[in-house]
Amino acid sequence: MKIHPVSQMTLKNSMNAIGRMLGWVQNKDYRLLNEHLLAMQEKEDLDGLLAEVSHCLSEMLNYRLFAFVIRDETGVDVWIDPTMFRDAFSRIVSDDLGLEDGVDIRFMGNIEETVEQRLISREDLEVRSFKESSFTAHLYLATGRRMLAHHNDILESLLAGLRVSLINHVRIRSLQGAVSEDALTGCYNRREFDRQLERHLAAVKRHGKDFALVFFDLDHFKAVNDSYGHLAGDAVLRSVALEVRRKIRAGDLLCRYGGEEFALLLPETNGEKAADLAERLRLAIEGLRVEAGEALGLQVTASFGVAEADASMDSQDMVAQADAMLYRAKNQGRNGVAF
Ligand code: GH3
Ligand code: MG
Ligand code: MG
Repeated sequence: MKIHPVSQMTLKNSMNAIGRMLGWVQNKDYRLLNEHLLAMQEKEDLDGLLAEVSHCLSEMLNYRLFAFVIRDETGVDVWIDPTMFRDAFSRIVSDDLGLEDGVDIRFMGNIEETVEQRLISREDLEVRSFKESSFTAHLYLATGRRMLAHHNDILESLLAGLRVSLINHVRIRSLQGAVSEDALTGCYNRREFDRQLERHLAAVKRHGKDFALVFFDLDHFKAVNDSYGHLAGDAVLRSVALEVRRKIRAGDLLCRYGGEEFALLLPETNGEKAADLAERLRLAIEGLRVEAGEALGLQVTASFGVAEADASMDSQDMVAQADAMLYRAKNQGRNGVAF
């Protein structure tokens, strides 16, 4: 085809225009990336960090699904958006990581339990991974938009930023861990409980967030010690704590309040949902069979008290309310939940 000089010019002009436009898109994306990378450094918790990453990816790639998976010796934590792919994604992750049955995947962030679930297949997802000494991480993405050449570059930078933040996060957590953990059960200790309760109640007051506190206490635990010995009692406490930690979300905090009494801090959770969780935990504890030396298949039960926060409550009110409910559950015959 013979190209007329004028149309050649037009072609050249429009190529330039497209080139400029692409350059402009690219610059805009890099500017956004920088803003988000800066914001990421300011985040104190993992949840906030990943929310920032998702925000950035959603602005740039308008993704259909973004998920981040962290595996360490305590299990597998997943941050996912949107929630409607939770079930399908759990299966994909189980396959990818070769998880045995019964390994629980814990979800972080705002997970709505009741969202109708949709399917997504493995082929729709791109994955990037990295490995650190104490954890491995995987970023999954199904983009809603065609990936341009520079998007890959951006994804790599984002991943690098995430990696640095995560390493810091893990380091800080292990430093804090030493002073905030209970030595027998690995739960947070009473001191950390006080600190975290204040922090979460402040968020309730400031942002009107949901928050619930659950107390639970093992039933007739003195009898366990009396019959099987103190070491068997210790083994039971450890098993109960581990079982509960497996069943809660990453943002939930399990604390040993004292002796055989535990407290669960449940951010973004109302009283009703907290009571549902307490019921599931009650059943899980009842189903435990603990091996402790001579004693095989030890069984215990626990009683639960649930308190829902409102903006007028301070930490003393919350503790008093959860305690009163626990007392009620005990009086109603134990192995129950009161709310
Ligand atoms: P209730 O159903 O009313 O809660 O009865 P209980 O026997 O559980 O309650 P009580 O307060 O009478 O006894 C609590 C027991 O928990 C007594 C104590 O020895 C035991 N306990 C507290 N801390 C530990 C611990 O660290 N290890 C062991 N093995 N036992 C503990
Ligand atoms: Mg007890
Ligand atoms: Mg007690």
